[in-house]
Amino acid sequence: MSPESQDTGSEGSRPPAWARDAGPRDSSSSRTTPLDPERIGTQSGKASEALPSKSADEVGLAPSLALQPPCAQPERAEPGTPIYLHLPFCATKCPYCDFFSVAAEGQDVDGMVEHIVQEIRARAPERPRTVFLGGGTPSLLSAPQLEQVLNELDRVTNFRSSAVEVTAECNPESLDVAKARVLLDLGVRRLSIGLQSMRNDALKTFGRVHDAAQGLAAYDAARQAGAEAVSVDLIYAYPGQTLASWEEDLATILALGPDHLSAYNLTFEENTPFKRWLDEGKLSPLHEDLELDLFLTTRSACSQAGLNAYEVSNYASIGQQCAHNVNYWENGPYVGIGPGAVSRVGPVRFGNPRALAAYRRWITNAGHATAWDERLDPASRLAETWWLGLRLAEGLEPARARRTAGFDGPVDPALPIAHGFETSGHLERCVGPEGEERWRLTESGLPLADAIASKFLDGITAT
Ligand code: SF4
Repeated sequence: MSPESQDTGSEGSRPPAWARDAGPRDSSSSRTTPLDPERIGTQSGKASEALPSKSADEVGLAPSLALQPPCAQPERAEPGTPIYLHLPFCATKCPYCDFFSVAAEGQDVDGMVEHIVQEIRARAPERPRTVFLGGGTPSLLSAPQLEQVLNELDRVTNFRSSAVEVTAECNPESLDVAKARVLLDLGVRRLSIGLQSMRNDALKTFGRVHDAAQGLAAYDAARQAGAEAVSVDLIYAYPGQTLASWEEDLATILALGPDHLSAYNLTFEENTPFKRWLDEGKLSPLHEDLELDLFLTTRSACSQAGLNAYEVSNYASIGQQCAHNVNYWENGPYVGIGPGAVSRVGPVRFGNPRALAAYRRWITNAGHATAWDERLDPASRLAETWWLGLRLAEGLEPARARRTAGFDGPVDPALPIAHGFETSGHLERCVGPEGEERWRLTESGLPLADAIASKFLDGITAT
């Protein structure tokens, strides 16, 4: 539903690719910053090639005849572990989207809700610190379906009393005041709305079923219903976009006073109609210099509106950062539930199939749907911690990164890479709130965040 988490060209809060649906948002295969990796001499820049070793597509399609999932049932994660619920249905499938989602028409949504509830009973950790409903379009579910999911989630986990943040991604065509109240009454506190653009021609290009007026109405509905926080998702750098039109869009959105904004530049994901149209010459990417202008304009406009850039593509007023996604960027643990959802608990990453039939069959037969798993060694976890942490404005602390990764080697392999980027002016050292040394991107490094992060991913895992 929305590029705020698993996230390009989609909506909302985008966590790493594997954090949402094994293609979760902020897709690691996507550029979320405007400058091409070749600007710093890398030919790769494709972090996803290293993660995970077994793709969910691979296991989502093949096992359609399997009666049992190939992996052991995972143990229930420790109390407090964040929960991501993947609700895979949308009004239609947007042609740029590579999340695991399908058009709801003709699907057994009630049946899928029942299977997701079964997985909640089997795997959801108690007292999660954050809960994030993504997809897909969670707001597309009916009130009884949302009640079934969220009441059972609370019965199993007590999330309504434990969570500091509960987010639901919503799309304008399925968010009115009544639906927003249903979500809030069930324990959701933060609504993330996939507006994507204020231009009807762009929304048409994106294949969205809402128009700009419906987008504004959905935002009003979220406010009228009394959401504690409202986030807006926008996509920029789409074919034909101009700097002036983006400035107008930003002005319109920022005048609403959102608590949080996710703004991602469009990327052309493999196996999407957009990528095919690009290859066929039916769509033309923007010039890289214009993409950079759009990125810098976004930062400047958000700053003037009081939204701070706390992550490369995410902006928030004070205290309104998305805690659920900050946990992803800090490489914390999480439990993903639903078809295609990915989890990382301790050193193990595992995921459900990106296939509705296999998911349902495995939940019915085995009580879980773990289709693949992989144990990450400390060097890989250290690489991922840098790869993700550099996206945060506050950067990361090398000593904490080593602890997070369980890395106790005599030499930190990240530091020579960091010093190299310090010399080139892309990284800088700073002092954190507790006097700790941290590393963060400089202004000139920010537009190259994806490429620089990939250098850490490749460089550390190669040691
Ligand atoms: S298909 Fe669904 S999940 Fe994908 S971008 Fe469109 S609304 Fe969002």
